[in-house]
Amino acid sequence: MPHVKSTTRAFASPGKYIQGPGEMNRLKEYTSVYGNKVFVLIDKYLSDSIGSQIKLSYGEDADQLYFDNFTGESTLAEIDRVTKLAKGIAPSIIVGVGGGKTLDTAKAVAASMELPVISAPTAASTDAPTSGLSVIYTEEGEQTHCIFHKSNPDIVLVDTEIIVKAPVRFLVSGMGDALSTYFEARANAESDTANYVGKGYKRCRAAMAIAEMCYNILLEDGLAAKLSAEAGVCTEAVENVIEANTLLSGVGFENTGCAGGHAVNEGLTVLEETHHFYHGEKVAFGTICQLVLENRPKEEIEEVIAFCLSVGLPTTLKDLHVEPTYEKVMAVAKRAAIEGGIAHAEPFNVTPELFYNCILATDAMVRNYKLQRGIQ
Ligand SMILES: [Zn+2]
Repeated sequence: MPHVKSTTRAFASPGKYIQGPGEMNRLKEYTSVYGNKVFVLIDKYLSDSIGSQIKLSYGEDADQLYFDNFTGESTLAEIDRVTKLAKGIAPSIIVGVGGGKTLDTAKAVAASMELPVISAPTAASTDAPTSGLSVIYTEEGEQTHCIFHKSNPDIVLVDTEIIVKAPVRFLVSGMGDALSTYFEARANAESDTANYVGKGYKRCRAAMAIAEMCYNILLEDGLAAKLSAEAGVCTEAVENVIEANTLLSGVGFENTGCAGGHAVNEGLTVLEETHHFYHGEKVAFGTICQLVLENRPKEEIEEVIAFCLSVGLPTTLKDLHVEPTYEKVMAVAKRAAIEGGIAHAEPFNVTPELFYNCILATDAMVRNYKLQRGIQ
């Protein structure tokens, strides 16, 4: 990971962030500023429900809308397919509606056509909606690289009525992803590693404040938000957590950087048995591992463990269906510490052995924490 070479600091963010119940029904109001031909890339399984809702909201102007269904993987081939289709239509704006991969594809299509883009997530499970980059995968779902765009989305439109209807596991997983933001920001600040803005700069104080606020909201509102979402209702706590998972986590990580927590997540992805766990679920366990790796105070580590247990995020290898054998844990550790990887944003030299040790130590510490408190 490159260290910053100058004292120049930089900050990137979406043009506008709009969050509230029923906001998807106001999409027309937001797209009309850019022109009257709107290309909507939408998750296939949402096209009947949310796709119809959008059509209805445009009223007699529904013929301005062009829909295309996202095929499920943000590959270079899919970006190329959608770009060709969109070029034939020549829209004034691209709108992405759905999960992180749909939004990443919509952002890449808009960037290649030099068009504005609205990113409209339908779950608060990742921090993809706000960022100025697209993560690219192979057809088989393996992550290959990131494409960095000239700018972040013009508008991030978050309809909390839609988000609260999505499975609660998405919201909780988003909290797992958001949980890492502050601790990874701190590691990056301590090692003075460049952030993900342009060629990489020093982080602004604003970015550090955002990362810290992100963690505080989770501690304050995380459990209440989960319970409200389970009851199918939107409350102030739910709104706060959606903002933390989407805006604060997204702007936070891009402007400060990832470190050990996400490195352990990347490590876990080499094991087939973790593939059905969501990104944020693996990041949550990775975050505890990072704190153990950094040998942070017991109170801080226990605060994070307690938070994860309260909302139901995985905290042990068993929770992630990983057998603690030497081969498996070492495979995770090797990928986590891969040369040039994000783990090297930690403020000390990291090796596979350090990760191997901290993963097993984390697992043992959490099991002891639960044993002492009679938690199953
Ligand atoms: Zn993440």
